[in-house]
Amino acid sequence: MQENLKQVFLNEINSINSLQELINLKAKYIGKKGIIKEKLKNLADLSLEERRLQGKFLNELKDFIEETIKNKEEELKQKEILESIKKDFIDITLPGKNFYFGGSHPVNKTLLEIIDIFRELGFTVEEGPEVELDYYNFEALNIPKDHPARDMQDTFYISEDVVLRTHTSPVQVRVMEKKKPPLRFISPGKVYRCDSDISHTPMFHQVEGLMVDEDVSFSHLKGVLVYFLKRLFGDIPIRFRPSFFPFTEPSTEIDIGCIICNSKGCRVCKGTGWLEVLGAGMVHPNVFKFAGYEEGKYTGFAFGMGVERLTMLKYRIDDIRLFFENDIRFLRQF
Ligand SMILES: [Zn+2]
Repeated sequence: MQENLKQVFLNEINSINSLQELINLKAKYIGKKGIIKEKLKNLADLSLEERRLQGKFLNELKDFIEETIKNKEEELKQKEILESIKKDFIDITLPGKNFYFGGSHPVNKTLLEIIDIFRELGFTVEEGPEVELDYYNFEALNIPKDHPARDMQDTFYISEDVVLRTHTSPVQVRVMEKKKPPLRFISPGKVYRCDSDISHTPMFHQVEGLMVDEDVSFSHLKGVLVYFLKRLFGDIPIRFRPSFFPFTEPSTEIDIGCIICNSKGCRVCKGTGWLEVLGAGMVHPNVFKFAGYEEGKYTGFAFGMGVERLTMLKYRIDDIRLFFENDIRFLRQF
């Protein structure tokens, strides 16, 4: 029966795989209320001879169990260490991850190029707020409330008097309020309109420009803008068309020969061979009046352009929404 106990113990310990199980097994056999302790207690009922034999045997068995458990514990600890080494193994011969260099966004590239060209011509850079008063966005630009020209732009209103600026033109007024001519600056920045399709996004970039002094004429306007377009697009045909803006008089829109089809007519130029790229004109006397300038003393010209549109033409991109999807495969092409 006692040999049997040893065998039962050996069977149990051989099936153990964790330190916790081993602790339980130790308690079961040689703990304070373990099997061996119980059996030693029962020795009192035996004869002297039996007691001696059994006592010796149980003590030997206890030593054996202790020794076996100690060995098993060592074995399990070793196994654990080996497993954690296997799990945390780092293969230093594997190739590393690739890191890619960032690049300028195409819209930003065009914007910086525009700024560089005008800087060469002596224009400085001015900025204004994107959340703008109705007064600067419309009224001071000769667009009173209920003026039909307000319908030309789908405006995001924040309140009755506050809008997200629909163009960079309000910067003209803000600068004129602070500075006296001669003025020569551009104001690049974000503008907002409630519009979205393949050629419109609710936010886009404009560059506005203004030059004011005594005796600034339409030929200055023409000289500056023709120079600018030739620098940006190379030697291309350019034409001026009469147009209307409430804050300039006379007003003009400027086209370049279609660079997609070489003026032969295509989908992008709608078969006309021309692409509109700029709006411009001589500053309306009312705008000078709002700025507080002495009447009749100064003349000037203003112009505005959409940076996304110029970028699309320059890089032949046919969907404006690509600019804002942050697709690295698209952005890496520039
Ligand atoms: Zn074309």
